Amino acid sequence: MPRLCALCSTQRPILKRPKTGQQICKDCFFYVFETEVHNTILEAKLFQPGDRVAIGASGGKDSTVLAHVMKTLNDRYDYGLELFLLSIDEGITGYRDDSLETVKQNQKEYNLPLKILSYNEFYGWTMDSIVEEVGRRNNCTFCGVFRRQALDRGAAMLGVDHIVTGHNADDVAETVLMNIMRGDIARLGRCTAICTQGEDTIKRSKPFKYTYEKEIVMYAYFKRLTYFSTECIYSPDAYRGHARSFLKMLEAARPSAIIDIIYSGEACEVGEEATKELKERKTCKRCGYIASNDLCKACTLLEGLERGMGNAGITDRGRKQLEASGPTPDGLRTIPFFQMNASTPTDATSSVTTSGQGSGARISPVVDVSAG
Ligand code: SF4
Ligand code: ZN
Ligand code: ZN
Repeated sequence: MPRLCALCSTQRPILKRPKTGQQICKDCFFYVFETEVHNTILEAKLFQPGDRVAIGASGGKDSTVLAHVMKTLNDRYDYGLELFLLSIDEGITGYRDDSLETVKQNQKEYNLPLKILSYNEFYGWTMDSIVEEVGRRNNCTFCGVFRRQALDRGAAMLGVDHIVTGHNADDVAETVLMNIMRGDIARLGRCTAICTQGEDTIKRSKPFKYTYEKEIVMYAYFKRLTYFSTECIYSPDAYRGHARSFLKMLEAARPSAIIDIIYSGEACEVGEEATKELKERKTCKRCGYIASNDLCKACTLLEGLERGMGNAGITDRGRKQLEASGPTPDGLRTIPFFQMNASTPTDATSSVTTSGQGSGARISPVVDVSAG
């Protein structure tokens, strides 16, 4: 007698679940995949009926599957959410321009409003021009800082309460490993938080926190979802690459390693001594965004670029060199001011690229560093 699906015992299994090793059929796979995300959402009480939620959409597998699953669960369980797609155009020729075409296709397939915000209009620089200026060593630092702020501002322009991102279990486990390797105890517990929100901040969460990357790929494959699978031409963060290879080795030896690492991170109770090192949060004097110094990280990086001292904004030492090199010359491009609680929901029913002007809210500190 042929082997049957370990869950329904009626259909023939067509896949082995990476997370559990169970041989299951396609319908059961879709059901357990979606139900686990639904349970994660319920347990963390991520949403309230009526919430306006932006899905950070890059056209890649994680955000494409997230958009599909969020729409499916919102309809199936009547969450009562108003969903939007929010994309950032970093200005990477041959990569982001193509992946944004995929997002536009997703917009039509899922019938969700889409907003696209570009680095060029917002910061006056594209990643192509930043790489030309600073080389390829620190490009992901610029990109990560600029993306985080652009996403928050885009969300504020849409008048949304909440941004969901496609960070998956592998990403979270990698971040835990990286914080261990760096000895960054203060961030160790926080980086596993499913949801981050401080006072007056836009909520950010990761509904795929416990979802394995391999299962996301399988889900996209069996659902025949359209996604863009090419890696960024400016190469991923090398440090994360080491953590990723290590995690893949652990997963090959024991699939539960990914979830175990996340649980370990969650279990890390960090005392006051460790968190004291995390700097107090301020408001950037130049652009109004959340900062740990007088200027936020994006303004500091931008000033370095504008003054032809490309990498100066990255380290504390470089920042001091920037300060020591005299007052900021007139005429440098700066980021438009980010006002608190001034947002009026825009008509986001079509694909628009905005200038970055206008409303906003402050954000939570960086707790994950996934490359785009
Ligand atoms: Fe930006 Fe990601 Fe490319 Fe780095 S790898 S430059 S973070 S899109
Ligand atoms: Zn089955
Ligand atoms: Zn700033």
